[in-house]
Amino acid sequence: MRRNPKRALTTGSVPTVAFLIIVNMLTLIASTTRIALTRSAHHHLHRYARHRSLSRKSFPCPLWSSSFSFCLQNPRGSTSLSLSTACSSAASAASAASAPPIPPRAPPMADAGAGVEGNPLLRDFEFPPFDVVEAKHVRPGILALLKDLEGDLEELERTVEPSWPKLVEPLEKIVDRLTVVWGMINHLKAVKDTADLRAAIEEVQAEKVKFQLRLGQSKPVYNAFKALQESPDWNMLSDAQKRIVESQIKEAVLNGVALEDGKREEFNKIEQELEKLSKKFDENVLDATKKFEKLITDKKDIEGLPATALGLAAQTAVSKGHENATPDNGPWVITLDAPSFMAVMQHARNRALREEIYRAYVTRASSGDIDNTLIIDQILKLRLEKAKLLGYNNYAEVSMAMKMATVDKAEELLEKLRSASWDAAVQDMEDIKHFAKSQGAAESDDLSHWDINFWSERLRELKYDINEEELRPYFSLPKVMEGLFNLARTLFGIEIEAADGLAPVWNSDVRFYCVKDSSGKPIAYFYFDPYSRPSEKRGGAWMDEVVARSCVLSRDGASARLPVAHMVCNQTPPVGTKPSLMTFREVETVFHEFGHALQHMLTKQDEGLVAGIRGIEWDAVELPSQFMENWCYHKDTLMGIAKHYETGENLPEDVYKKLLAARTFRAGSLSLRQIRFASVDLQLHTKYVPGGPESVYDVDRRVSERTQVIPPLPEDRFLCSFSHIFAGGYAAGYYSYKWAEVLSADAFSAFEDAGLDDSKAVQETGQRFRETILALGGGKAPLQVFIEFRGREPSPDALLRHNGLLPIAA
Ligand SMILES: [Zn+2]
Repeated sequence: MRRNPKRALTTGSVPTVAFLIIVNMLTLIASTTRIALTRSAHHHLHRYARHRSLSRKSFPCPLWSSSFSFCLQNPRGSTSLSLSTACSSAASAASAASAPPIPPRAPPMADAGAGVEGNPLLRDFEFPPFDVVEAKHVRPGILALLKDLEGDLEELERTVEPSWPKLVEPLEKIVDRLTVVWGMINHLKAVKDTADLRAAIEEVQAEKVKFQLRLGQSKPVYNAFKALQESPDWNMLSDAQKRIVESQIKEAVLNGVALEDGKREEFNKIEQELEKLSKKFDENVLDATKKFEKLITDKKDIEGLPATALGLAAQTAVSKGHENATPDNGPWVITLDAPSFMAVMQHARNRALREEIYRAYVTRASSGDIDNTLIIDQILKLRLEKAKLLGYNNYAEVSMAMKMATVDKAEELLEKLRSASWDAAVQDMEDIKHFAKSQGAAESDDLSHWDINFWSERLRELKYDINEEELRPYFSLPKVMEGLFNLARTLFGIEIEAADGLAPVWNSDVRFYCVKDSSGKPIAYFYFDPYSRPSEKRGGAWMDEVVARSCVLSRDGASARLPVAHMVCNQTPPVGTKPSLMTFREVETVFHEFGHALQHMLTKQDEGLVAGIRGIEWDAVELPSQFMENWCYHKDTLMGIAKHYETGENLPEDVYKKLLAARTFRAGSLSLRQIRFASVDLQLHTKYVPGGPESVYDVDRRVSERTQVIPPLPEDRFLCSFSHIFAGGYAAGYYSYKWAEVLSADAFSAFEDAGLDDSKAVQETGQRFRETILALGGGKAPLQVFIEFRGREPSPDALLRHNGLLPIAA
């Protein structure tokens, strides 16, 4: 998203205006700026990315973070030493050494309003008082907090000097306090929602955004960073500190702070206009989606739809006034919402119905009074103007200014993946054609867009025949977690111990864990909220920080504050003596989120603004999470987990083989699909001339010639609903999906190269992964971090190999 909302909230590090506005918007729309999604949402996005996901609360896992290189003195062993000495090292020495333990928060100002006295949001805590925060605390608590922080910011602006203790430390304290407290209530909204809580948060949201904007546009703070960069002290700073300064400056510049007054006004006007246009774009997509409904009364017409889809269609019918609708006898209503749309594409035998729904889907928001065409052009024009104002050639350069990739590198990667995927995608089409023919399909010689999903689903069922439900008994949550923790011990030398009761929790099912290093010293904590609670908890799975590692926020004045994370999933709760049983996809999801959590918790970075997942470029932040998913396909790891919860028997070998094989099914086609979106996105934000001879649809057609085996329909207007880039902050950033896959696959291949069966080699590689990717946070450029781990720059070969897209040497 964006420059990533996640970063805006968690690093809070002077994000750009646009960024914040998007964050705000997304927070309102999607009630989430948090990390991940269900595996299925991921999957869905990857495969059908054009479908708007924000409105369904599903972001692609936006925990984009990367890493930092290993700059601690001790390459291995004595982790505890590096941890405990860290706070008295480098530039923070002066402040940390002399700082007394942080006193409890000053009592809130008397005039801050009722409800401040004893308000848990204003308390000083080691672990947030999740058990006692209620809706009634939000308004008084947040307003008092913001008032406090306003005061702190004014004080900072008055006394700021270009030095670490007089600039960055007070800034970190402001940013951190807002991040932590806001993170608490945002988290509660996601896991313990009530109408009151939601309303209370909405009420103070605008005030909070206003403060963040003011913080992000503070000229005195910006000037001090510039002065620090030019001062003799610059060379005394550590790499991580230099990166903090540089990124603060860069973000401020992208924020328009460095512009002269007249130009800044122009800049702010563009930003406001862009915000309005994005919002309108989004509303049009939602309206167009809502407007369409197809009533079906004849059971013949919906043959093939599975029970869940029939249930959904009947439920929709009821909500549209057909009170007596039932899944068995209808009537049914099909809509363009993802679950309904996809069910028809994949399962409806009625070809005419598939065609009708498909055509409606790809022409959403492209005509009448909800036509997004003009909005798209206006957005692209303003983005280009903004880029020029900031001294860039195009908007893609602005977007990439805070990312790991560059325009050239992203284009180069996409082309490499495209050419490797093309033949496989052509072959996929041939396979489907033959299969459809063998099934006697009349359309087999003339397959169109609305046939592809349908026939590939049939082929998939035939080839792999994996029934997710039947696999559940092999994946019980306790076994899965045990296997995951064992893997973490093997790879990274850490122990994970239950620590229930140490920290307050928001629900009695929530577990609390302590992470210890090999010497038994605690280095981090995390909450795990595993089960679904539909009445109060958002769907999906995600991870986020509770607090980050930091020396400035040391609780005892000597050692760094330890990082705390939370992981949230939506598994089926246990019933009686039956444990929570998971699908394979849910297992992958837990591994994914745990990868994010590891990067947050195993950080050795003491600079709070770039510790853990903070400050990591968002096209690199999915590295550890997707990396961890790979282990679900590793035979020993999987077989260690997959034991029948009653009989203890192993997952049958042939099922494992099918899981493995299914991973590459239609990989070429799926890859091309993502490449089409990513390429159009880049073209529109680099070479496209708004108002020029070529329309945006011409650009899409041109790109599609090279990325689509079947050309799009002439009336295809998918751009009119491509909310990722026109309303969701993915502008010139869609490539990140592929970028991150390349990084994670290549990182995993280091283990393959070392030999997955060689436990010593695996351990050594794991240790190196820990000391680089997991340790360095946002304190070092992600490319350098990657090189420190891998010994070279990233290569797409491993991803292509995992996807079965590398030609096999004869
Ligand atoms: Zn993720």
